[in-house]
Amino acid sequence: MTSRTRKALSVPHLNDATRGRLLYGGDYNPEQWPEDVWAEDMALMRQAGVNTVTVGVFSWARYEPRPGERDFAWLDRVLDLVHANGLGAILATPTASPPPWLGHLYRDTLPVMADGVVHGYGSRNQYCPSSPVYRERADAIVEDLAARYAHHPAVTMWHVGNEPGPWCWCRNCEFGFRSWLRERYGDGDAGLEALNQAWGTAFWSQHYGGWAEIKPPRAAPYMLNPAQVLDYSRYLSDALLACFDAEAAILRRHNPALPITTNLIPDYAAIDQWDLRGRFDFASVDSYPDPALGAEAGADHAYAADLARSLSGGQPWVLMEQSPSEVNWRQVNKHKRPGQMRLYSLQAIARGADASLFFQWRQAASGAERFHAGMLPNAGPDTRTFREVTDHGRELAEDDGLKALIGTTVTARAAIILDWPSRWALSWRGKPSERVDYQRIVKQWHASLWRQNIAVDFVRVSDDLSGYPLVLAPALHVLSTADAEHLARYAADGGCLVAGYLTGTVDQTTRLHPGGYQAAALREALGVFVEEFHPLDEGETELCQSADLGDFDALDWTELAHPRGAQVIAALKDGRAAVTRNAHGSGTAWYVAVQPCADGLDRILAEAARQSGVEPVVAGLPRGVEAVRRGDTLVLLNHNAEAVVIRGSAEVSDTELPGYGVLLVLLRASAPEHRQDSPQ
Ligand SMILES: [Zn+2]
Repeated sequence: MTSRTRKALSVPHLNDATRGRLLYGGDYNPEQWPEDVWAEDMALMRQAGVNTVTVGVFSWARYEPRPGERDFAWLDRVLDLVHANGLGAILATPTASPPPWLGHLYRDTLPVMADGVVHGYGSRNQYCPSSPVYRERADAIVEDLAARYAHHPAVTMWHVGNEPGPWCWCRNCEFGFRSWLRERYGDGDAGLEALNQAWGTAFWSQHYGGWAEIKPPRAAPYMLNPAQVLDYSRYLSDALLACFDAEAAILRRHNPALPITTNLIPDYAAIDQWDLRGRFDFASVDSYPDPALGAEAGADHAYAADLARSLSGGQPWVLMEQSPSEVNWRQVNKHKRPGQMRLYSLQAIARGADASLFFQWRQAASGAERFHAGMLPNAGPDTRTFREVTDHGRELAEDDGLKALIGTTVTARAAIILDWPSRWALSWRGKPSERVDYQRIVKQWHASLWRQNIAVDFVRVSDDLSGYPLVLAPALHVLSTADAEHLARYAADGGCLVAGYLTGTVDQTTRLHPGGYQAAALREALGVFVEEFHPLDEGETELCQSADLGDFDALDWTELAHPRGAQVIAALKDGRAAVTRNAHGSGTAWYVAVQPCADGLDRILAEAARQSGVEPVVAGLPRGVEAVRRGDTLVLLNHNAEAVVIRGSAEVSDTELPGYGVLLVLLRASAPEHRQDSPQ
């Protein structure tokens, strides 16, 4: 499989689906209910201000109850009813959950885990992306769905699959992996030797003498070859992308004007989400901030929002799923307090979403998610949740300040490099510390900027970085020589690069860069030489002393890093460098050689931002108050349960923001104009 980028000819836009509205609604599964309930659904949706429903996400078994049969008559009635009630429909392809007959008749469509366990039906996501039978049957149902509904007046966009996707180590994947490797390394003996070199198979007698010997990295007596595992992660990502490509090609053939998206879980590792840029027309994400985390849940939700916006090239995106209140898949599932649902919905809109949608409309009465909240609870419409849903729907439809946000963008001058290969490579055994968790580290850095109200995009390492005065590279572990030179050039050309520990340690084949734990170009840019890693145990801390930043604790990680031209900004008590800064060309390169505590990280990044001229949206706000600028509107969101008073800001002063309250301030007017406040 090769990466394919669609030509940008008359690309459909989210505006084609929103048609001037903020989309509001959620997953709608009428097939789970008798038809006499549907009319009530429509009436209550209209009452709640719902204008969009997502249908068919898990309907394959209903469309095709037995192999080759088709039953679309019920969906005809649903879509006609939706249209007659003035709603739009996001029509999903049902390929994330094949019907039982597929796994029953064709066992090799079922995913096989690395230890040989077959994952069967009775749940969902039981498919192998490399299975020819699965691919053929999936494409066939998508073909018929598209032929029937691509021009239905209710349908506003396509939703491909659901939260891609499963991992698999089966025989189909084995064949697919070998083909993929032949494309990557070349066929025949020369390609095989290139693979042996790339994988470092001289270690532990792993040299391959023939292509047929090469397998997926399945369960083995001890640690696996890291280069093999990284290539396998790339292969599985490409296999899932190939499924997406095949479905998208069918959908576009039937109606090129209808936008295509898929709903991503930001924390899922299966697919390199950057590779979806150019494949979908805009990103959609599912975000479930945990209300138990209090104000910090806002950082998690902001992470999802910033990723979705970045994957959409800065353009508006879709919050495809959130919960109206509790979920049912955590250890303990906390409900959203009054005002929190609205807060998170408006937070997504403030950060660039033009759609605030939920899982799901009517709480399910059966199945695995009975205890997951619905917009319409099991207890009915005379409920706190439904009243909040209705009030929020009304304000999205009627509030001029919110409507003015549609189609506008969020500008960020800071960027965080997000890298799936680094995530994959840091997720296996054999690393310097099991306490190193790539996703956690990236989220810590992002949360620091969130706490400081510094707007930030995510970028891929190879992207043009020149538009960002500040670029952060936390734990960017896998870094090719070319990408290391790219980062060094960014700093030399005047950028401010802040690299975290473990950045640039290995190349794209997981081979250590020679001469110290960093790629040469990065080492030169940072002016630092890393000799040894000194990770810390759980609960162990070391003090970092800094005249410029004040003292702070390191946890999880320290190392033996020597300045080679860089200025030491913070040092451990025994003199090892903790934070350094180096003038490189006309720019600056910082190195953070420890895992700072949250407060320490805030101070490091605040100073790097200040020196690179990147300012907070609003400085000096009370803790837990988020400020975002979208278009000409400043949005202030209070993630605290208690009211706060904002003082001393040019935009807003002596203003009380209620607990979970949101305030919109139009900045274009000569004097800032307040447009809205307080939750219902
Ligand atoms: Zn497979």
